[in-house]
Amino acid sequence: MFTITTPRLNLQPTHKNCWSICDQNSHDLLGKIFFHNNWFNIILKPKSLHLGVATESGYGLIKALNSQAVKAKTDLPHARLYLKNMGFVQVEDHFEVTPETLQYPDLYQILNAKLGIDTQHIRAPKYPTATQIVDAGMDFFNRPIKLHPTAYQAWQKLQQAAQADGIQLIPVSAYRSLNYQAELIQKKLDQGQTIADILNVNTPPGHSEHHTGCALDLTTDGDQPVLEAGFADTKAYAWLKENAETYGFYESYPENNPHGIIAEPWHWCYAHKKTG
Ligand SMILES: [Zn+2]
Repeated sequence: MFTITTPRLNLQPTHKNCWSICDQNSHDLLGKIFFHNNWFNIILKPKSLHLGVATESGYGLIKALNSQAVKAKTDLPHARLYLKNMGFVQVEDHFEVTPETLQYPDLYQILNAKLGIDTQHIRAPKYPTATQIVDAGMDFFNRPIKLHPTAYQAWQKLQQAAQADGIQLIPVSAYRSLNYQAELIQKKLDQGQTIADILNVNTPPGHSEHHTGCALDLTTDGDQPVLEAGFADTKAYAWLKENAETYGFYESYPENNPHGIIAEPWHWCYAHKKTG
């Protein structure tokens, strides 16, 4: 029994045949993995579903154990698909994989390849997907939004503090999945735009800060244009400049930012404090 580290996670042995799945930065518990007599099982908290945590931890554990045959049993369609994507094959009433047939379904590579994006030559920074997200209310268009739990708490404090000063801060976009980002680009491809033109406006899947669950696009009340440079002239923006940092939020792409990205005064991100 030993600790296993994957890009975003630590798998810590808790007792015999069991590992806790923890976020590397926040140390929050996300789920558990069991491995007993070559049988593999994984349980995740709802806040960590559909974020690649199951794949990353399952692959990480099986790879590290390097056991000859790993077996799993499930009747759930999404769990069967999960096993299939990692190279498990059906044997009688269960599924099996070996160190040789185990594979990592890298959604980042799969989506970018499908869109015809060469990941070797992307200049925009790459952002890790959140390992946990929670419901965070509604956006400007009355769509439900999600955020990283810590960012959500900080966002509530920020929004309330603004309100107390007579400033309305309204979210327009929060957490976005890699699939969502890919769909945005696919829609434009379907409309006949070239990938080069699209990438002048949209970041490739894996390269949006919204994947972290900590970034928010904001607008304010009144008939303000949404997500346009004019937001920089609003009282809300002036208030954010003055106060956001107190609540852990930073403007990711100010004028002349080192990423070479056009200024986005509406885009703010919660920065986790380092916890050692
Ligand atoms: Zn944004």
